[in-house]
Amino acid sequence: MSQRSILIIYTGGTIGMVKSAENNSLVPMDFSNIRSKVPELSMFDFDVQTIAFDPPIDSSEISTDIWIKIARTISVNYNKFDGFVILHGTDTMAYTASALSYMLCNLSKPVVLTGSQLPMGTIRTDGKENLIAAIEIAAAQEHNTAIVPEVCVYFQSKLFRGNRTTKFNAENLNAFRSDNYPSLADVGISIKYNYPYIRYSAIGGTLSVSEKMDTNVVIIKIFPGITRKVLHAMLSVDGLRGVVLETFGSGNAPTYKWFIEELSEAIKRGITIVNVTQCMSGSVEMWRYDTGVHLKQIGVVSGYDITTEAAVTKLMYLLGNYTDIGEVRMMLNKSLRGEISVR
Ligand code: ASP
Repeated sequence: MSQRSILIIYTGGTIGMVKSAENNSLVPMDFSNIRSKVPELSMFDFDVQTIAFDPPIDSSEISTDIWIKIARTISVNYNKFDGFVILHGTDTMAYTASALSYMLCNLSKPVVLTGSQLPMGTIRTDGKENLIAAIEIAAAQEHNTAIVPEVCVYFQSKLFRGNRTTKFNAENLNAFRSDNYPSLADVGISIKYNYPYIRYSAIGGTLSVSEKMDTNVVIIKIFPGITRKVLHAMLSVDGLRGVVLETFGSGNAPTYKWFIEELSEAIKRGITIVNVTQCMSGSVEMWRYDTGVHLKQIGVVSGYDITTEAAVTKLMYLLGNYTDIGEVRMMLNKSLRGEISVR
């Protein structure tokens, strides 16, 4: 049996930082020195190689160009490695994981994103455990097949489906949650995989990368007191094609005449509006209250239990790949990569 191999792709973020000798501030470390910071990397009985993006970036600077760069790096190295670990800042990790889940079509190898709240160069760093467990998960196989052939996020003992995650804590070490979908693995003394929840649908397919992401989208979070002027201005942005409408509770919004008119006009102009709840968990159900029924009647599409991160990147992906609006709306109602709980 040939030796397994894992590729670490370092994009930036806190995990790759060390304290500078000069003034103690955090600076990106030279990633070629990763083995001196994490000597455990040499203890795996498989090959671990690294690629570092230059320059490493804070994940708040992430753009679709970087997503494409990550996807291409995976694609170019796909046949040489059994799994991929992406080191990424935590701030936008859920967006990147969601975007990659759509962009990597027919993925049958693990792509595990991880990072840390404390830099690798600090004594209490959470980066080491996160990195080591992520590598182990990316390399895990049964009968020569990857156990988790999905884009995932590993953080603080939990492996989540990437497009189900949200960063919810800027202070605690467990920064991510996945309220609408169970963890894919729990890491303790041993790694317990939750097999029934892992997606195996692409096994046997050939990986292809979709690089078309249309960024003519906006997230509109409604709030009591929102004015017509504000809503109108947002919906009138030149070239706008998609809106993630963050609504209250199970997908409810005001029924004022002007509010419905603005949305309805936008839909008639060909803008796709997808309804996502502002709540951390639960699903949009536009039939439940009159305040949801109005939205359904004018053609707002349900986002079901999707996260905002997965919704906005799904819109980018669909609008980039389909010109027919009917098709975009139809695909929004489907689970493409397990991002919503419908079949
Ligand atoms: N601002 C950093 C980033 O997202 C925070 C982190 O890495 O956790 O790149």
